[in-house]
Amino acid sequence: MHHFDYRHGQLHAEDIAVAKIAAEVGTPVYIYSTATLKRHYQVFARAIGAPKHRVFYAMKANSNQAVLATLAALGAGADTVSEGEIRRALAAGIPADRIVFSGVGKSAQELAFAVDAGIYQVNIETESELELLSRIAQARGKRQSAVIRVNPDVGAGGHAKITTGSSANKFGVSFDEAARIYARAANMPGVKMLGLATHIGSLIMELDDLEAAFMRMRDLTLRLRGEGLAVERLDLGGGLGIPYEIPEKFEHGPDLIEAYAAMIERTLGSLDVERGFEPGRLIAGNAGILVTEVLQTNPRPHTTFLVVDAAMNDLIRPAMYEAYHEIWPVKQPAAKSERKTYDVAGPICESGDTFATARQLPETKIGDLLAFMTAGAYGATMSSTYNTRLLVPEVLVNGSEFAVVRPRTSFDDLIGLDRLPKWLG
Ligand SMILES: *Cc1c(COP(=O)(O)O)cnc(C)c1O
Repeated sequence: MHHFDYRHGQLHAEDIAVAKIAAEVGTPVYIYSTATLKRHYQVFARAIGAPKHRVFYAMKANSNQAVLATLAALGAGADTVSEGEIRRALAAGIPADRIVFSGVGKSAQELAFAVDAGIYQVNIETESELELLSRIAQARGKRQSAVIRVNPDVGAGGHAKITTGSSANKFGVSFDEAARIYARAANMPGVKMLGLATHIGSLIMELDDLEAAFMRMRDLTLRLRGEGLAVERLDLGGGLGIPYEIPEKFEHGPDLIEAYAAMIERTLGSLDVERGFEPGRLIAGNAGILVTEVLQTNPRPHTTFLVVDAAMNDLIRPAMYEAYHEIWPVKQPAAKSERKTYDVAGPICESGDTFATARQLPETKIGDLLAFMTAGAYGATMSSTYNTRLLVPEVLVNGSEFAVVRPRTSFDDLIGLDRLPKWLG
């Protein structure tokens, strides 16, 4: 379920006409819905049993501070993957004791920053990282709470580029090594080893692989406890998918969440542990759209290209993952209007800069506005300035109010980042 729908012939974000925002802020523009963010967070938090178990929103999905503050007010923590994300979470008002630090390669500087900030937990990915963390914390007279990310060797996810739980992937310590490393960690002076973590992929719509992974976590927990080691926390990662092709019917979302929660009770219910969760896409995906204007039309024998003012640098998912995004006209088409075949593409000189091929849309003209649906996760956060294009502004809607929560950058700011060396000055 989301809060983008047609009223009086116009697409609305909650109570505000999308066309009004486009007119005031310009296009392309990301628009997020507060009510949708809140709903998704609350449905998830309730299902997994927060606050006893904890939700660390995976902020790489959408890290705008207004989004973080909206979720933090509901009790969300943050799953971070860099010093920059930790800083951003703190700046948005998420307290350090609700921040988890994940990520495959953390630098000494990043680990030191995390320890100094007093974050809740570091998710260790390699034995060498464990040693580094222990040294850094010990030098500061501290013991940093940590868990070890285990690679359970099950593959899952909607696309090869977002599968992380197979032994062929770079993530986590190998399952066979986990017990030995955990036992070592328990005796290290700078870490307080509290448990295990796993995260096997993204866009997961079938729970079988997750269940297999959680069973392995259960076995490992029992084995470690059998060896006299304490396991108090299990961080179960994120990865639950959302339906991109039918975002107007989010029924699948809550259904999937309920089934997920039931599966966790089935697999891990008998263990006395605090569970942590790191959902990203599930919270933010359906809560955002990217609105673009049609700049040109280019008819071909079998299709017509609609060249829009958004490009792959603004929303890279179609180019990177062959991802599908529904495209809704901002002006509601007449109920029985005829559909035509269109290819929707951006202005960048790469064939990959194509959002949709052979898409059936109502007759669309230059100047019309289109909305890419389900663009709230891995949209703005993956954007770049390729082609010296300005980062897209972001708008947050809350009922009948809206605010620009990231203004469009300026050309002076962007071009001004460069410095000419003195031999060219
Ligand atoms: C990316 C990531 C997540 C979030 O994944 P979603 O598919 O957006 O839920 C959670 N945990 C870790 C460690 C991640 O890398």
